Amino acid sequence: MMETEKTNGNELKDLQKELSYKKTSAWESLDKQAAFGFAQEYKEFLLNKTEREFAKATVDMLKSCGFIDIDDAGELKPNDKVYKSIRGKGVTIAIIGQSGGMDGYNITAAHLDSPRLDLKQIPLYEDEGAALALFKTHYYGGIKKYQWATIPLALHGVIYTKDSQKVEVCIGEDENDPVFVVSDLLVHLASEQMGLKASEVITGEQLNIAIGNMPIEGDGDVSQKIKLNILKILNEKYGIDEDSFITAEIEAVPAGKPRDVGFDSSMIAAYGHDDRVCSFAALKGILSATDPKRTCICILADKEEIGSLGATGLQSRLYENFIASLFAKCNGSYDELAFRRSLELTNVLSMDVDAAYDPTFSSAFEIKNSAVIGSGSAMTKFTGARGKSSSNDADAEYIRALFDLFKKNGVPVQMTELGKVDQGGGGTVAFILAQKGSNTVDYGVPVLSMHAPMEVISKVDLYSAYQGAKAFYESDIVIKH
Ligand code: MN
Ligand code: MN
Repeated sequence: MMETEKTNGNELKDLQKELSYKKTSAWESLDKQAAFGFAQEYKEFLLNKTEREFAKATVDMLKSCGFIDIDDAGELKPNDKVYKSIRGKGVTIAIIGQSGGMDGYNITAAHLDSPRLDLKQIPLYEDEGAALALFKTHYYGGIKKYQWATIPLALHGVIYTKDSQKVEVCIGEDENDPVFVVSDLLVHLASEQMGLKASEVITGEQLNIAIGNMPIEGDGDVSQKIKLNILKILNEKYGIDEDSFITAEIEAVPAGKPRDVGFDSSMIAAYGHDDRVCSFAALKGILSATDPKRTCICILADKEEIGSLGATGLQSRLYENFIASLFAKCNGSYDELAFRRSLELTNVLSMDVDAAYDPTFSSAFEIKNSAVIGSGSAMTKFTGARGKSSSNDADAEYIRALFDLFKKNGVPVQMTELGKVDQGGGGTVAFILAQKGSNTVDYGVPVLSMHAPMEVISKVDLYSAYQGAKAFYESDIVIKH
């Protein structure tokens, strides 16, 4: 047997470098103070707890930064800044690049909606035996229902008065406001409940929100005096009656402000990180992109949590129409084939949150391929379930180009997938843009307790995602297959 040549371990150890991408704390490479400052801005913006509120605050911010409604714009030229509100629940934003759009766009797509309890259309009732007035709800998105009991809830949304005036509602966020609450059964009487599956501990029809206990004064003979008293209060305050609820859109969301987590204040606990953390990172990314070569588009969509359907979900033509308008206003006219070809040359970051490895529930994860909180932004080649089913499985060519870009710009990034094989799964908006022929990959921020009333992220991951979005907007990646 021949003796093999001895190799020099020091030279070869460089080969292992790529493996260190993840599990390297991003705190070591990023500017801590900048990350904390950015997080502070984010926490304030997170007070916009619904897609409507976030979209409105975004439009206000855009206007103050010189963006104009695309419908008010004439011919567009490099560095022009436009936006379009998607029925007040989504926003599309663009900065025209040097090349106008024929050679493709740099698009990020994130979503503004989060899981919550929506009021039913006929929500208000009094249980006379219990002496309580309550709201019936229908939950929105994927939730563990039991998590929504016994926490303070606030009501946000729109409702019409008796004479059809639209009123914006936000009750439960000011510290002098009342909050609302779903009850749970006391443990003393819960022997039956404690034996149920977690999905049955609190059922959908048990997500009833307590809203009052005090009967109306006087009016001797009327029934349902507690409910009547609530209606009297609502009428005095908002000019609404019971019929107003039929056409209302009111969301019950966890009340209160985002809070720092940990002795080192390195993390943020808040409602709705999914997906406002990526929405904010993308929004700030496009606002800080300097002199982009390609036309940059930031999409903030609604309805991701229920399948991206409806006119305000990303599958709606409203989003594509915005890009088509951009095309027309940059190139003097609209050409269907040229527009579609520009989408083929387009690069997309589908920005959504990722599942952070949770040491308490480690059996659901495969550590080597899971996102680790604090290790920077997370890229996900594929989502889906059961053998990558229903996934956009991004091309190696595109992923490599992005990794090179992020490395060049010092953006911490880890390559991840959501949990163990066959453990479950999830989807994002990636497939929608990929279907248009654009290079598309999932990218975002790792989250602990995703879809819980209080989710947790690391400030450094938020900052990494913002830096990633900015570098992406300023990039000019051309993929050759
Ligand atoms: Mn999401
Ligand atoms: Mn989600």
